[in-house]
Amino acid sequence: MEDKILVLKDIKKYYTGAQAVVMGLAGVDLSFSRGEFVAITGESGSGKSTLAHVLGGILPYENGEMYFRGSPTSHFDSLDWERYRRDNISFISQNYGILPGATVQKNVVSALLLSGMGRREAQGAAEKILRQVELWELRRRRAAKLSSGQKQRLSIARALAKPAPILIADEPTGNLDAENSAKIIELLAQAAKDRLVILVTHEFPEAEDLATRHIVLRDGQVVTDTPLRPANEPGAIRTPQRKKRSMSLYVAGLQTGSRPIWAATVAAFFALTAFAVFAFLGVFIINLDDTSTYRYDSSAFPNGSKTRIVVSTLDGSPMTQEDYNALLAVREVSSLEPNGYVTDVQYAYREGVDYQVVVNHEQAGTWGEQHYVTSHATVNDSAPYAQTIPLLPGGREFLGAGRLPENFYEVVAGPGGPSIGQTIHVGFYAPAKWSYDNVVWLDFRVVGATGWGRGVYFHESVGRFLMSAMQMTQTTHCYLPQDPEAAEPLEKGTFLCSDAEKENLNRVSEVMLTLPVTDPELLTQGTTELTLVAKDRSSPIKSIHGLSNNRLLMVNAENFDALTGGLVSEQVSLTISDYAYTDRILEQIQSMGYIATSPYRLGATKQVPELAAERMQTLQICLTALIAVVALQIVLLRALFSVQTESFRILSNIGLTSRTARASVLWQILLFTLLGQLVGGAAVWMCGCNGVKRIEQMLRYLPLPYVLILSGVHLAASLLSALLVIRSMEKQVYPLAGKNRDLDLGEGKEENL
Ligand code: ADP
Ligand code: MG
Repeated sequence: MEDKILVLKDIKKYYTGAQAVVMGLAGVDLSFSRGEFVAITGESGSGKSTLAHVLGGILPYENGEMYFRGSPTSHFDSLDWERYRRDNISFISQNYGILPGATVQKNVVSALLLSGMGRREAQGAAEKILRQVELWELRRRRAAKLSSGQKQRLSIARALAKPAPILIADEPTGNLDAENSAKIIELLAQAAKDRLVILVTHEFPEAEDLATRHIVLRDGQVVTDTPLRPANEPGAIRTPQRKKRSMSLYVAGLQTGSRPIWAATVAAFFALTAFAVFAFLGVFIINLDDTSTYRYDSSAFPNGSKTRIVVSTLDGSPMTQEDYNALLAVREVSSLEPNGYVTDVQYAYREGVDYQVVVNHEQAGTWGEQHYVTSHATVNDSAPYAQTIPLLPGGREFLGAGRLPENFYEVVAGPGGPSIGQTIHVGFYAPAKWSYDNVVWLDFRVVGATGWGRGVYFHESVGRFLMSAMQMTQTTHCYLPQDPEAAEPLEKGTFLCSDAEKENLNRVSEVMLTLPVTDPELLTQGTTELTLVAKDRSSPIKSIHGLSNNRLLMVNAENFDALTGGLVSEQVSLTISDYAYTDRILEQIQSMGYIATSPYRLGATKQVPELAAERMQTLQICLTALIAVVALQIVLLRALFSVQTESFRILSNIGLTSRTARASVLWQILLFTLLGQLVGGAAVWMCGCNGVKRIEQMLRYLPLPYVLILSGVHLAASLLSALLVIRSMEKQVYPLAGKNRDLDLGEGKEENL
């Protein structure tokens, strides 16, 4: 029995259908040796294909025993069968079993690689065999484009290329004309020189001249078994050297590369699901934070900018340069406004944008020969908040052109602001402190430009002025420095006032004298109090409108510095690059020993029911859509990958192990997922840039780590679908694994794409 490579003892095979059990083989006893060229014939349905597939280790048998090289196989598990097929079987089926999308050459090379041959060796062997079957000229043609005779020659070339001891051909000439059939039979006969060749045919005369043995089947049983001529004397068995190397990436490439349109469809599908997951989950995540459903209440801080953080020292002492440096070193802090109070004062310099001039016709009248109307300016809610020259982190350059302001009346303009040399008329307005018509109007000269931020940046002394103005009460007043370029400079110790102010002077000066004064030159001899002498002027202070005139006193610049020098803000305003960092930055600054607050958080305390309901709705929609997308991905992916089932079946017949097949599916899905994420991510980004509101908001507020979560969820959905794709592929391609599922031996079903 040792020289018998295959021995069958009472082999039975049943097909268990939905209605009935069909007998495929009804007790077959046969034995085969290498060197034989066996022709099996019989009527249609007599069990020829069943026998061929059982011998090939493709179909399981239920009864009896099949011995391979003397060893029983009934205990084989799926892995044993895989090895059996990979190392011993070359199978040629009526429907060719070639990969239609791959080239002629690739079809042969892939078989050689799968049987463990090295890459270079495989190329050489493929050439030799393709020349033998006269297909070398057509090696670059896609297999689908071949004629049926050429296709069958290719499938034989592939079977011959594999150095397996058993070659089984199930009606290989079924679709061919006589001339092509003869060529095929000839090739098979040659192959039988050193292997066992089993040919299933219903055209026995074709093989009659070359076959060494003829077996006839009927109703799943052997009717006759006739020797025709002596078998060949085969040489020693060549056991091919197997290289240990993973073929999964190669198979993945083979599956994808031979289906360009399919691959593009799948890539687009993954891009779509990535886009959907990114968009829906992203919007979902940013809506988990419900701060946007609260309305901002400006009573504590008029300026409730989301990116503003107010910092002060624990003991209320003024900040030093060291404090500034420490705060600027905090990550995502993009600038520091040393004069914290300034940030709550609005300034208006563009008529129609920041302020409106309202003419009051009812208060018109005639004065002498002149007709007049009264008018006043009102500052819009949208007017910007004031800022002095900010400190930037990491030694970043603030000034772009010109110079920094050297006195109160000089400013630097940001992008979109006025240009150097221009004079702007600016109204200051502190919404929380001053009544709406108390606007201080002053003229400023633009001396520098910056590429940073927006609007204009004031001199540090404007900060001091606004600070004293903000602290002003009904009974106090504040100072304003005179423009050093004024035509009539004020002397030390004098101030400008109107007749009306003069009347009030006594009352005002009492209060004024309680202010701290640091410059000894301002003091008159013998007293510790300052006396400012009003310079008599018949007209009111020209450049000041609003703020009850008698409470704003214009002094010369030196006096102003002396009088306000003690005003150092213990509170600074930080601008952070994104609201999303608020919690992290607040925590860090507090741990550094400061008091830090987000004015926006502080003010946003009243939830708006409509906004809250809208948020809940957004959350629900996003979650539903997300689940739908993931479900869709899982279901559709299985359908999309089902086109590979036939190729996997073909590859499995030439030695592709289920492990490699699984890995190749996983590779494909992984690579498609990553590609999809790149394309989907780019699409999300483009939507954000083109003003899709929710996505734009999401891109701005979604911190980077969450991007990983988005990719992770999409990847998880892909892996889950990969699992199902692999399971359904395995069920169909590797029926010997697990349950005994039967292959459909349907005749002439070519893999179609
Ligand atoms: P042949 O190749 O000689 O035409 P088969 O081996 O294909 O015959 O079929 C033998 C018997 O098994 C037939 O009765 C056929 O109907 C049945 N059969 C083959 N394949 C299946 C299958 N997948 N499910 C159920 N019955 C099958
Ligand atoms: Mg058949």
